[in-house]
Amino acid sequence: MKIPFVDLKAQYLSIKNEIDNAVQSVINDTAFIGGKYVKQFENSFADLYKIKNCIGVANGTDAIYITLKMLGIGQGDEVITVANTWISTSETISQAGAKPVFVDINDKLYTIDEELIESKINSKTKAVIAVHLYGQVCNIEKIQTICKKHNLFLIEDCAQSHLSECNGKLAGTFGDAATFSFYPGKNLGAYGDAGCIITNDDALAEKIRMFANHGSIKKHIHEMEGINSRLDGMQAAILSAKLPHLTEWTNKRINNAKLYSQMLTDIGDVVTPQIRENSKHTFHLYVIRTKHRDALKEFLYSHKIETSIHYPVALPNLPAYSYLNIPPEDYKLTNIFQDEILSLPMYPELTSEQITFISEKIKKFFTTQ
Ligand SMILES: *Cc1c(COP(=O)(O)O)cnc(C)c1O
Repeated sequence: MKIPFVDLKAQYLSIKNEIDNAVQSVINDTAFIGGKYVKQFENSFADLYKIKNCIGVANGTDAIYITLKMLGIGQGDEVITVANTWISTSETISQAGAKPVFVDINDKLYTIDEELIESKINSKTKAVIAVHLYGQVCNIEKIQTICKKHNLFLIEDCAQSHLSECNGKLAGTFGDAATFSFYPGKNLGAYGDAGCIITNDDALAEKIRMFANHGSIKKHIHEMEGINSRLDGMQAAILSAKLPHLTEWTNKRINNAKLYSQMLTDIGDVVTPQIRENSKHTFHLYVIRTKHRDALKEFLYSHKIETSIHYPVALPNLPAYSYLNIPPEDYKLTNIFQDEILSLPMYPELTSEQITFISEKIKKFFTTQ
């Protein structure tokens, strides 16, 4: 039995007709850029989040960059985010002209340690980007309070947290704006690059829409210079076809995670994921920790089980950020955990047989060591 880390083909086959029809409709209508399929998806996604505006963009990275720019963040500003995240979260801060400031993670939940945020706030700080990593929400209510107190913008990076919830409220509805990625492997994935921004701020939404389309709402009238970052019709139609299945797929991920955690209890030094209280973790990734990570990864690979690491190098350790000279005590846990975390196969179509197989191999690794 070969078990891939993700299986996008399995999902396609389960809704093949819906996808094929969606793609064919876009071609029949030649609605490739803009048009009704984009509008339709933006409206459905906004309805799902009960939010006033959804603006489709080219990808989740652009979504963050555009949001920062349109909030007026730039040269001389600082933006606080977490040391353990995908580089999109921090590189877009630099792209906007500001400086990324990294905060360490919580030892059990792996999201930004909200207790450390205030120590990083100074007169240059303009915003916090809270990342709901792996599908786990951060302590967003506390972060919201901190941002209000210090008059900072709050942006939620929801690239890994479609439908995650904190106290019964959807992650992505706490900040000034939230950004989503629809990269194929994300919980809601397009068949190419895609992303969006949601916000209840109409003025901000209008600026975002303009900037993402060459600074223009009305053709040939450019209010400002912008960029070309549009969600295309094909991706929008595919996303609309997939959206009605998202709740079911999310529930399957949650069940898969439950099964993993049951089967991986008391095995060697394996630490299974904990879920924040009163929250819904949507398990974009199922991440365990062990001091024997590299050997375990290799062992699983020899049994045709693909795993991954999110992320193997803490952002402050990357050559790209060596210029910041961040002292290791500023990201102590991220630094330790980069060598211990392991992401196991996780997708809705993963079967209980496969989870049992993987868990048994992990058990075998620890008993034969
Ligand atoms: C995937 C991801 C992004 C970027 O999304 P793209 O669509 O690939 O540009 C941003 N932040 C996080 C945390 C991500 O996982």
